[in-house]
This record gives sequence, C-alpha cells and structure tokens, in this order.
Amino acid sequence: MSASLTALRRQLLAGETSPADLLKSLAASITKRDSTTGAYLSHDLETALAEAATADLSLPLGGIPIAIKDNLNVLGQPCSCGSRFLAKNYRAPYDATVITKLRAAGAIPFGRTNLDEFAMGSATENSALGTTRNPHDSSRIPGGSSGGSAAAVADRTAIAALGSDTGGSIRQPASHCGVVGLKPSYGRVSRYGLVAFASSLDQIGPLTQTVEDAARILQAIAGHDPKDSTSLQAPVPDYLAHLNDGVRGMKLGVPREYFGEGIDPGVRRNVETAIQSLAAQGAEIIEISLPHTQHAVATYYVIAPAEASSNLSRFDGIRYGHRTEKPNDILDLYRRSREEGFGPEVKRRIILGTYVLSSGYYDAYYSRAQKVRTLIRRDFETAFQTVDAILSPVAPTPARRLGALACDPLHEYLSDIFTLSANLAGIPGISVPCGTTDFDGGTNLPVGLQILGPHLGEAKLLQIAQAAQI
Ligand code: GLN
Repeated sequence: MSASLTALRRQLLAGETSPADLLKSLAASITKRDSTTGAYLSHDLETALAEAATADLSLPLGGIPIAIKDNLNVLGQPCSCGSRFLAKNYRAPYDATVITKLRAAGAIPFGRTNLDEFAMGSATENSALGTTRNPHDSSRIPGGSSGGSAAAVADRTAIAALGSDTGGSIRQPASHCGVVGLKPSYGRVSRYGLVAFASSLDQIGPLTQTVEDAARILQAIAGHDPKDSTSLQAPVPDYLAHLNDGVRGMKLGVPREYFGEGIDPGVRRNVETAIQSLAAQGAEIIEISLPHTQHAVATYYVIAPAEASSNLSRFDGIRYGHRTEKPNDILDLYRRSREEGFGPEVKRRIILGTYVLSSGYYDAYYSRAQKVRTLIRRDFETAFQTVDAILSPVAPTPARRLGALACDPLHEYLSDIFTLSANLAGIPGISVPCGTTDFDGGTNLPVGLQILGPHLGEAKLLQIAQAAQI
C-alpha cells in the first residue's frame, strides 16, 4: 500500500476504495512481506473488518487502519511489550486513551508491532518475541524501540503507526527506516494505557509516510485526559492550518554540540544539505550552543532506569502475565517469575535503577541527575529565546547491522545522544527523511533530520518539517 494516509482518505471519500479493502490488502501484504521484515507480532483481521463495517468516513481518519506498538493497550488484544512476561496470557482489559481518540476520529487499530522489551533499546533487538529487519536492508536493524512501527510504515505494510518515545524511540527508528516520526511535548498526548517505562519521559506519537499524515494523527490523539494527571489542559491548535506556510523569516538554530566528532560523514552531509535547503527557502540559520548536551546520556541513563525499576515492580507474577511453576513461598514466586519473565536488558535497567535510588547513592546519582536535567531544560529555554526551532541529526550513524552491538550496551546507549535531551526537557521533536547514504557496506540507507521545538510548539515543528521534506 504505497499511498499516504492523506491520499487514501481522498480515495475513501471518492468511493475508490473501502475500509474493508484497505484492511484486506494490508493483511495480504503482511502475509507476503512480513515474513522477511518481522514488523508485526500479531494482527486480527476479523475484528478489524467488523469495525470497518461501521466506519464513519466523514470523520477525520474515517476508515483508516493504524498499526499499534505492542505496549499500548487495545481492548481484548495482546499487549506483549516484546516480553516473555506478557506474551502468553495477557489481554488488554481496556483501550488506551490514544486508541479511544483514534476510534473517535474513525480510525481502525490494526496490527501490533514489535518493540524492544518494555521499549528499552534502540534496535528492536531486545524484543523477546522476534527479529525486525530494516526494509531498506534486511541485514540491518530498523532502529528502536518502535522498530516494528517504523519498519511496517517503511515496508508499506502499514499506512501509519503509533509508537512511544522515552529517549528517541519514535524519532530514531523513523530516521533509520526513512519515515516521519513525531514525539509530542510531554503532556500533549495522554499516556493512559501506555505500559509505563519512564513516566516523566514517555510520550506517544505517530510514525507516518508524510509530515501531513503525522499532523493528522497528532490532531486526533492530542488533548487533555483526566485519566493522565500529567496531560495538559492547553487547547489543541489546528496542526494543518499553517502546514504549508514555509519557513521564510524563521530563525533556525544549529547547535554546535550536535555536529562534533563521531558523526558519520554521510549523515552530516545529508543533514547539512537539508539545512541549506531550509536556508534557501528563506530561513535564517544561526549557530547556537546547548552546553549541557554532553551530560544527556548519563542523566537519562540514571533517570530512565530509576523510573523503570519502580514502574516494573508491578510485574510480580501475581497481577500480570507470567507466573512461575510451584514456588516455595511468596519471595520465590516473585524472584523466579521475574527471573524467567524479563530479558537481560530489562534486568540491567532494573538493577541500575534500584542502585541509583538506593539509600547512600540516591544523592550522588538520582538527585544529581535531576539537577542536570534542569540545566539541560534551561539550555533549550535559552536557545528558544533566539530561535524558533533547532536542527540536528537524529542519530550519529545510519542503521547498523543486526547483532553488531548486541554485547555492548554502553555503545548502544551513547548512540542515543541526539534524541534523549528532548525527553529530558519535555519538548517536541520530529524526524523527517533527508536523504540516503552508504554506510558500513550498506547502500542507500535513510538519514533523518531532527527538528526540535519549544514546549507545545508542534504546529511550527510540522510546518518546518513540511518545508524540509524531500
Ligand atoms: N534507546 C533509549 C533506551 O533504550 C530510548 C528508548 C525509548 O525511547 N523507549 O532507553
């Protein structure tokens, strides 16, 4: 299915296709293509067809199937989080708010996409449930943790998808797979029904073929939700109204810390070309500094595991998912259920998080990380006094080979350097394809341009992304 969401909406309204036809053709392409790509963990055509029968085409996303990352609850469907813990016997007892909102806009949730276990990772290699491959080169990772969502959209087995982004998990796979990925501002989209990884960082957002498609999905899922105390009361603007207004007169910042050593030359070249194109369209490019950037990785990898260790304590073998056989006592039940249910990266995060929160270490690690987080946020506040948005690469390299870093978590953490700060600061970010390059024996691998904006500045971000889109 190569048409964009926006184009398919037109075809639906013109009677050239139907929601059922769309679903059947997606299901056929999943059968045909997904044995190679492995973007999906499951899909339920029957339920989706039943929903399609009553789809209201007059609604903004009327009749459009949307793939859903497998850490978002959809009533009655599996929600494995890529984990053995939940893979067998968990079914979602309710719809996440984003799903309720998608349904209210006429969309049909269809298919569950693979992810790093509990969204911890940058390659989808930490999934306990299967390998997802990059549709541009099947020997490579799709990125992560929303790797299944990005790969499905790139492989055209999904029209659009939802992902979650705690430290880059929408933007980085979007960049690696050559699709658009938007992480909204913290509080813009309700997190209710997203299985929590790090609650002060998590946001849900769209992965799409085009910037306009991303705007349409954000329009549907944004807004206040009394079920998420961190969701904001702020009114939701019309994200399409100024989409095509261009960048003339805008001031766009290029942070020098994001263009230092370690960036692949092909990534640098494509990102610089995209920046020049925005300049040619009338934007003023200004060099800026975000001086605390170098501390972002360390700060994130204290705060995110700390929150994860607390959030994942609910997986105790009693309330959800896997329970060990014949435990000797209650402690044995907890210990063995968690030992058997969680994979190595999740265990590493729980141990790290428990350590940085423990008495004696709390002040040295967790509390200090919170202070540095404030400094990182202030860097952005200062920058946005002079510039409308910030331009950078999404990741230092294009997609690496599968398995290449499996034994080196630290190296993997460092590759998140350009995406983590937006989550720490709570600001929105988008990845938009800006070309392709050769890398490490691979050819024509996608590269993404990252655009970061001030808190609740999604409309302008989309406007800039639309101008940058090639
Ligand atoms: N790669 C980061 C991590 O492993 C971010 C993951 C995410 O955004 N969910 O924590």
